[in-house]
Amino acid sequence: MSNPSLLILPGDGIGPEVMAEVRKIIDWFGANKGLTFDVTEDLVGGAAYDKHGTPLHDDTMAKAQEVDAVLLGAVGGPKYDGLDFSVKPERGLLRLRKEMDLYANLRPAQCFDALADFSSLKKDVVAGLDIMIVRELTSGIYFGEPRGIFEEGNERVGINTQRYTESEIERVARSAFELAKRRGNKVCSMEKANVMESGILWREVVQKVHDEEYADVELSHMYADAGAMQLCRWPKQFDVIVTDNLFGDLLSDAAAMLTGSLGMLPSASLGAPMANGRPKALYEPVHGSAPDIAGQGKANPCACILSFAMALRYSFDQGENADLLEKAVEKVLADGVRTADLLQAEGETPASTADMGDAVIAALADLS
Ligand code: NAD
Repeated sequence: MSNPSLLILPGDGIGPEVMAEVRKIIDWFGANKGLTFDVTEDLVGGAAYDKHGTPLHDDTMAKAQEVDAVLLGAVGGPKYDGLDFSVKPERGLLRLRKEMDLYANLRPAQCFDALADFSSLKKDVVAGLDIMIVRELTSGIYFGEPRGIFEEGNERVGINTQRYTESEIERVARSAFELAKRRGNKVCSMEKANVMESGILWREVVQKVHDEEYADVELSHMYADAGAMQLCRWPKQFDVIVTDNLFGDLLSDAAAMLTGSLGMLPSASLGAPMANGRPKALYEPVHGSAPDIAGQGKANPCACILSFAMALRYSFDQGENADLLEKAVEKVLADGVRTADLLQAEGETPASTADMGDAVIAALADLS
């Protein structure tokens, strides 16, 4: 059988720096766990524009469609600010998401005990938190028609349209139920069925998918505004939350901040199942290219490392190795290794990007 395939797109700014640490970890799994990937590396964002005059070359797009998973660092930077909108680095990422039809955006909010003090909430509210927000990514109010700013009488009116088809709701609901089966077996669906017809349909369809295909998963429904309150009050009541594009945008950012630093936050975007039964998938840290610290060895590679852990779990059926990698990151933090973004007291010496990667590898060896 051929090795699982992975396309790595380091991108710009700190992207290549954090990805270098992931490459070391991939090599470690090959040498120590017999887990070998066919890795291809290519350009995206500003780096692709510099070489090809486009933020994503057609050949790279074709490769992304063929592999089992794509892992991306970050794109963008001030050097590209003046470019035409059509060739801006971010367009490369948007093209990947669109052409791979990645409709389910997974944003975990996981709080490592060692970082519980970083949250703005009380330690006992966030310590050990582990929830997953599944946001519908390719439809809803950001795409619905009509949209625009129109003249109406003697003033202008701004219009956006919330629109969901049954099949769009069904497929993201299935992603959420499938995830829940690998986690705490609970899904909470959030909408505003009290004031929006699209919310009524959302609730009905999620319930139907549940009853017909996932009756063994616990399902609850909550209005999204109440959900936001509950996320701040007692987030540990949730396992998987599934919601639409707009509410998911807000709720996932709020949930992410429960846990502290941007340098710790991974994400995944999943599409339809491929021939091997696994979803099309793009994994990436939530953070951007951080031009203010790029090239200085200061970036925290954990978000990118944890994105690779998500790839192990959701694209490669390597749940145990994903757990091992997450435990290694947890151990490193518990041991007090901190990149600059995680320092709390003045005078502490930060670990460099490479120090952090090396510490994770040492922890992997310790825990194996
Ligand atoms: P950013 O996420 O790059 O940085 C925000 C702040 O967080 C900065 O102070 C940065 O130093 C810090 N930070 C981010 N990641 C870090 C890490 N791993 N370790 C330590 N500190 C970290 O957001 P921004 O400054 O708004 O955007 C910079 C560029 O990145 C822009 O060109 C933007 O368009 C792009 N961007 C790309 C993505 C992506 O590739 N998915 C996402 C967001 C922003």
